[in-house]
Amino acid sequence: MKKNNQNVTWKEILPGGTVWSPGNSEEFITGDWRTERPVMDWDKCKQCLLCAPVCPDCSIPVEGKKRLEFDYDHCKGCGICVNVCPFDAIKMVKEGK
Ligand code: SF4
Ligand code: SF4
Repeated sequence: MKKNNQNVTWKEILPGGTVWSPGNSEEFITGDWRTERPVMDWDKCKQCLLCAPVCPDCSIPVEGKKRLEFDYDHCKGCGICVNVCPFDAIKMVKEGK
């Protein structure tokens, strides 16, 4: 059975706190750590794709040379994408608004 941090006992935790198989970070919904989230203004977006590679959480999917909506399950709201967008197409808003 695949393990995650909800179904392991303390005896199974390895040195360094690792209990999981490699390459499984997508299974963990880290987006609920956010206090702010990025929001797109699609009218301003020129699809220059500068934002996608700088996202530390790979939360800006690109398909067919176009960026898609943020992956809010994994975006942690760091705001880096806002700072790199040359067209002011992304803004941060408080979570819950
Ligand atoms: S706010 Fe940070 S984590 Fe979220 S999409 Fe932008 S760069 Fe990625
Ligand atoms: S950097 Fe800005 S304009 Fe370029 S793709 Fe990202 S959101 Fe769109």
